[in-house]
Amino acid sequence: MDIRDHIRQIPDFPKPGINFYDISTLLAHPDAWQVSMGRLAKKVSVWQPDVLAGIESRGFLVAAPLALKLGLGFVMVRKPRKLPGKVMRHEYSLEYGTDTVEIQADAVQPGQRVVVCDDLLATGGTAQAAVNLFREAGAEVVGVAAIIELSFLEGRKRLDVPFDALIAYD
Ligand code: 5GP
Repeated sequence: MDIRDHIRQIPDFPKPGINFYDISTLLAHPDAWQVSMGRLAKKVSVWQPDVLAGIESRGFLVAAPLALKLGLGFVMVRKPRKLPGKVMRHEYSLEYGTDTVEIQADAVQPGQRVVVCDDLLATGGTAQAAVNLFREAGAEVVGVAAIIELSFLEGRKRLDVPFDALIAYD
């Protein structure tokens, strides 16, 4: 099965000139979604993680089923002020301005092997921010996984951990 057949491209979203890769058509197709999660679980298991982290919000849709499949815990990486209790945050720069990701301070134990999951890697800025945050928490980030890589943006070069994806667009 070619997962590409289930990704919809929406031109000019969220702004003119941007081609958006929409995974809602993949999520709505149970066979294609099951095959996708099975293939990605195999890639992620190579890194022998203890915990899978998902980046809000579509990263949750990827990391949670993978964690269940692999019998691992799932941790949320969220936008600011969404998580209760003590949190840790990491600010990172965007094309214009900055953004922040947060985790709960006790989300990972020192030395735990974490794989960061998202639906899509573009510039890699969001994923690397999550990597930095887990490192600050004392965890070892052993990989980043996504369904889609926009390889023309060379985001994987921005990551300082191994990266794998199911499909790439160039
Ligand atoms: P980056 O930080 O790598 O530039 O951007 C990746 C983040 O933006 C991911 O969290 C991803 O969900 C979102 N993103 C950027 N472009 C797209 C796109 O075309 N399709 C989808 N589904 N997500 C995108």
